[in-house]
Amino acid sequence: MDKKDLFDALDNFSQTLLVTLAEVEAVKKNLKSVVEENIALHLENDKLRERLGEVEKEAPTKTKKNRDNLRKLYYDGFHVCTDFYGQRRENDAECMFCDELLFRE
Ligand SMILES: [Zn+2]
Repeated sequence: MDKKDLFDALDNFSQTLLVTLAEVEAVKKNLKSVVEENIALHLENDKLRERLGEVEKEAPTKTKKNRDNLRKLYYDGFHVCTDFYGQRRENDAECMFCDELLFRE
């Protein structure tokens, strides 16, 4: 191997290292957002359980109170419909299933 080949090989090697480093950084960033999302979901879950506990305590004779609690949940940004119950409403988007449940007479 002459000197030029040696330098070429080292250049290739350092290019590969740079690419690998970028990949590691991307994986780190990805992991960070997954961990953050996990924490947010835990908090959300706790909050939902707490609210669900309140809602269940009111059941089943106090239908109006029940509906008020569901409405509170809904205005806090969560689905109360059976299809998406407990999931966050993206950007507080309205849900016709929730609407039907909360506002039908
Ligand atoms: Zn809904």
